Amino acid sequence: MIGNIIVISAPSGAGKTTICDAIVKSDKNIVRSVSYTTRFPRSGEKNSREYFFVQETEFKQMIKEKKFVEYAKVHNNYYGTSTELVDKILNFGKNVLLEIDVQGGLKIKKQYPHACMIFVMTKSINVLKKRLILRNKDCMETINVRFNNAKKEIQYLKKYEYLVVNDNLEKAIDSVKTIIKSLKYKILKNQKYFD
Ligand code: ADP
Ligand code: 5GP
Repeated sequence: MIGNIIVISAPSGAGKTTICDAIVKSDKNIVRSVSYTTRFPRSGEKNSREYFFVQETEFKQMIKEKKFVEYAKVHNNYYGTSTELVDKILNFGKNVLLEIDVQGGLKIKKQYPHACMIFVMTKSINVLKKRLILRNKDCMETINVRFNNAKKEIQYLKKYEYLVVNDNLEKAIDSVKTIIKSLKYKILKNQKYFD
């Protein structure tokens, strides 16, 4: 039995990490894929937990060696999803949760048409900026880059299948859980259903 792929994308500050943390904590059948990135760790982040933090030369070598199922340059840094890790999780029969940007999300959908595509957003774009500032993890320059990119990322919304507005956090987590639960009722083209 092969697991499902769940893609969660959102502009920075919309709350996807908070939601994904709650999802993987509540369901042992959902495993988050740890990505590779060239960005510097934020305070409190640990190598191999939030990300595998690598130098750009190592990342580019991995691209050459085709180690990524998808990768993208996001907010001036590289991020990539390991093919090996995703395959491992799926072959264990678990669902893999990919917390990736919209460019990566579309690449995954192309390769895995059954991937479940969830977009998370705040009620308004101004709330995003407030949350980025309140998170207190990035300098103002970085926050501005992320905020400006948010406007472009929102244009990808219609390429996704589900929208979760993260106003009330508990409700947003519940909505994502409901979407994921519904996946087991999805009709898959290559699956045999009856004897
Ligand atoms: P992302 O991973 O999308 O960049 P985070 O999960 O880091 O976003 O959330 C950004 C900030 O907003 C964090 O400080 C988080 O605690 C906070 N946050 C998340 N969801 C909510 C919410 N529903 N209401 C208020 N603050 C929230
Ligand atoms: P952050 O620096 O805030 O952790 O992440 C910045 C952006 O990169 C977010 O949109 C996040 O979802 C995205 N991201 C994280 N890992 C990957 C990945 O492996 N591939 C892609 N394409 N985007 C990723």
